[in-house]
Amino acid sequence: MAIDATMEFREELVGGWGMAVQGRAHVLRPTSAEQVAAAMTLVRRRGGTLALRGAGCSYGDAAMNSAGYVLDLGQMRRILAFDPRSGVISVEPGVTIRDLWRHAISYGFWPPVVPGTSAVSVGGATAMNIHGKNNFAVGPFGEHVESFALETPGAGSLRCSRDQNADVFHAAISGFGMLGCFTEITVRLKRVHSGRLRVWAVATNDLAANLQLLEDLRGTADYLVGWLDLHATGAALGRGTMHRADQLHPGEDAEGLRYFDPALQDVPTRLFGVVPKGWLWPGMWAAVQLGQVGTVNWAKFVASAREQRRSPYLQTHGAFHFLLDYVPRWQWMTRPGGLIQFQPFVPQANAERVLRTLIERCQRAGTVPYLGVLKRHRPDPFLMTHAVDGYSLAMDFCVSTDPAKRAALWRLCQELAEVVLDGGGRFYYAKDAVLEESSFSRVHGAASVAKFRALKQRLDPDRLLQSDLSRRLAV
Ligand SMILES: Cc1cc2nc3c(=O)[nH]c(=O)nc-3n(C[C@H](O)[C@H](O)[C@H](O)COP(=O)(O)OP(=O)(O)OC[C@H]3O[C@@H](n4cnc5c(N)ncnc54)[C@H](O)[C@@H]3O)c2cc1C
Repeated sequence: MAIDATMEFREELVGGWGMAVQGRAHVLRPTSAEQVAAAMTLVRRRGGTLALRGAGCSYGDAAMNSAGYVLDLGQMRRILAFDPRSGVISVEPGVTIRDLWRHAISYGFWPPVVPGTSAVSVGGATAMNIHGKNNFAVGPFGEHVESFALETPGAGSLRCSRDQNADVFHAAISGFGMLGCFTEITVRLKRVHSGRLRVWAVATNDLAANLQLLEDLRGTADYLVGWLDLHATGAALGRGTMHRADQLHPGEDAEGLRYFDPALQDVPTRLFGVVPKGWLWPGMWAAVQLGQVGTVNWAKFVASAREQRRSPYLQTHGAFHFLLDYVPRWQWMTRPGGLIQFQPFVPQANAERVLRTLIERCQRAGTVPYLGVLKRHRPDPFLMTHAVDGYSLAMDFCVSTDPAKRAALWRLCQELAEVVLDGGGRFYYAKDAVLEESSFSRVHGAASVAKFRALKQRLDPDRLLQSDLSRRLAV
């Protein structure tokens, strides 16, 4: 069906990044804000629903709309303006984090908040209000957004900032694409004085040591992230490696400016300069199939002592932040069932008890996440925030193709969610595939949910914008 001569919805399979959930939808790739508005009008006229999609890096169903319509913003990828003195940049929503830093690094700027992959779009980063390894220090992506243009189904195009339509500004950031489509976003990048960071690795013996280290370092470190070996039991439960990275001051790194070359920031595509990293996932797949993930984790933990001895060392921003981009298509190691991530955010006072309970329950169920990542967070002013004054633990699970095993994993995660909610915790919808309807108001509280629903009624009265996620949570 054509909107104009150049635009057409095509039926496609649309999935989550984790490959565990997917559905067919009619997909359109607009190239301008006018086409976004026209698509909204057309889908409304057809009585359909519309989901917005950036780079499709959400693990679950946040950017899916099974049997409905999807606007894929990946073709709106122009950098509209950049001030090399202030680092303020205006972009279309499909511009990726990688596009951002490649454009800005030679001027000495880097995005203030980046996720574990640089493939995500600025639209998706804003809608989910992504956090980085520096969330405890600088807040989420939204805290660095200066303004945006939002195309809404019911109220036209709105310009929003902290001074203009401030309520919409604070709700659309974190609003997982439910209030409108960002068509232009202005972000303030941060100044860097070297293309590298100073990095330390510290081997940690248990969960308490990891949490304590985050507390000890968060006043001084720029970035902190802990890898946990979730297979370790008993006194070693929650052991792992904490990585700290600090920005370098002017003149501290004699070679630092050389690394402003974007080509030196990209993670290398070959292992030892020889083996294409695209070939690594089958080896990882074999480790999963042979049940050897526990051994791999043990080896990684043992190796962390050596990394600690050679610390600190210098590493490019790209290499430090985008570890998950090192092995292209690494998620294929979980084929054919795919993966889900369960990432609870737990207030500091309850964190050790709740996180220990989660890890122990997984171990007792014999369903141990192959990856665990611990971060420190702080609250932020966005309506649908996932952050707390506490910690998150991202837990990655392989999904079986056996329906009974798949259902058991979903049940386990729902039981874990109860533990988190009872402990005053929250969840992050970019990583969710399992939460049930009742969780939505328990996560956000009745007052915030009522405010969000009132805004939805004002900006999208026909409930045009929906996704599989929003229907699952009855948003
Ligand atoms: C390997 C990996 C590592 C990750 N690490 C982190 C991490 O460290 N921290 C973190 O916070 N996240 C992390 N993520 C999650 C990721 O940052 C979020 O899912 C992000 O939202 C993905 O952006 P996207 O462009 O792919 O958006 P999509 O996944 O396509 O969409 C995400 C949401 O944004 C909405 N949306 C997209 N574009 C627009 C628009 N133009 N206007 C309005 N709404 C829109 C969609 O409707 C959807 O609800 C990671 C993901 C991967 C795959």
